[in-house]
Amino acid sequence: MQYNWSRHVRLIISGIIGATLIGLYLGSPIYGFTFAVTVYLWWTLKQTGRLYKWLGNPNASEQAPQSVGLWGDIFDHLHRLHQTHLSTQDRLRAQINRVQESTNAMRDGVVMTNNRGSMEWWNGSAEYLLGFRRTTDQGQLIHNLIRTPAFKSYFDSRDYREPLEINSPAKPHIHLQIQISLFGDDDRLIVAKDVTRLYQLEQMRRDFVGNVSHEMRTPLTVISGYLETMVDNAEDLPPKWRRAINTMSAQSSRMEALITDLILLSKIETGEQTVHDSLTDVEELLEQICRDAQALSGDKQHQLSVQVSDRRLLRGDESQLRSAFSNLIFNAVKYTPPKGQITVSWFSDRDGAHLSVKDTGIGIDPIHIPRLTERFYRADPSRHKDTGGTGLGLAIVKHVLLNHDGALNIRSSIGSGSEFICHFPRERLVERVPEKTDSDA
Ligand code: ADP
Repeated sequence: MQYNWSRHVRLIISGIIGATLIGLYLGSPIYGFTFAVTVYLWWTLKQTGRLYKWLGNPNASEQAPQSVGLWGDIFDHLHRLHQTHLSTQDRLRAQINRVQESTNAMRDGVVMTNNRGSMEWWNGSAEYLLGFRRTTDQGQLIHNLIRTPAFKSYFDSRDYREPLEINSPAKPHIHLQIQISLFGDDDRLIVAKDVTRLYQLEQMRRDFVGNVSHEMRTPLTVISGYLETMVDNAEDLPPKWRRAINTMSAQSSRMEALITDLILLSKIETGEQTVHDSLTDVEELLEQICRDAQALSGDKQHQLSVQVSDRRLLRGDESQLRSAFSNLIFNAVKYTPPKGQITVSWFSDRDGAHLSVKDTGIGIDPIHIPRLTERFYRADPSRHKDTGGTGLGLAIVKHVLLNHDGALNIRSSIGSGSEFICHFPRERLVERVPEKTDSDA
């Protein structure tokens, strides 16, 4: 390029000098010089015009204009640059097409939106699963098309660690699991997975457990009834039967407790027992439960104390809350040695309302904590025989809290007691309405 450039400059200067010399030979060097400069200027303007026209629409003719000399070189370079640009463009377009084809082939629905939720692109499965239409929905806000309120709050929350499950807005029999990821300039990639089969299987499992428990309850009540009568009249029985009858009666009571918990858990899980948003007086509820806990403690003489620092009411299902709180408090009694301390506190802060049940009991090895809320999971299986627990208590607590938008937190270590904390969102706290006195009337 450097070589060509100086050669071109030399050629132009030689041309002008040559024309000036011819002018000198003809008697007027200035005419020769002016003629050469004018011709060069005219030629340069002509080439600039061609270049200008081609740059205005380079795709009309793939070939850049042809010329000689300096302009020829400039046109050649521009042509090469244009060719490289075109092939890069083709390669990128092929890559985009390939990505779009592969996402189109996916069974999951994929949608791209900007930070406000305006729809930019979606694949074929999203059209089928979510009912989007390419002709009308481009640029629409996604919450106007998926109108479930849970979806809008999930989209706005920006906390996408857990997926959301909803029914398809277009085909309500399809159950979808929605997962959002953030990318680019706060844009969203939304993946919708059809989990209908899994959901139905889970539903069948819950129904089966619920139905079996119901069916078992009646025969068991009859057996327990007869066993109780026999225990009451144990003196009339031959001594070798007494022990057997007492064991059978204790085991049938355990089975009854198990069936009661299974039925309760399946109701809470299936949503059959939907949250009846009544206003619960937590202070009163805790006092009632603690009276029962004191009775359960019996001659073990646990020191039970209740501290309530927030007197507002809790919006939620009182019977579900009673089950959850009593499971935690009764567990504290069961797993704390005689004369141990159990502290139940109800308080609130910026994050919401919290119930803490703290004991000075045997504690739990932290490796068990993540699995404690699974059904029938026991930190120490050898011990549960003494406590007579069903193994479903913490599973019930977890589901009750889920139904109340809450969460359970467990802190414990072997030998230094345990603390179970239930968290409820602030929005569930409701001010007490002052009771009307006679003087107000
Ligand atoms: P269970 O009916 O066996 O008590 P839960 O679901 O209520 O079943 O509790 C699960 C397990 O968690 C228990 O078996 C026990 O090992 C452990 N656990 C629960 N609460 C406590 C506590 N306060 N202290 C020590 N361990 C506990």
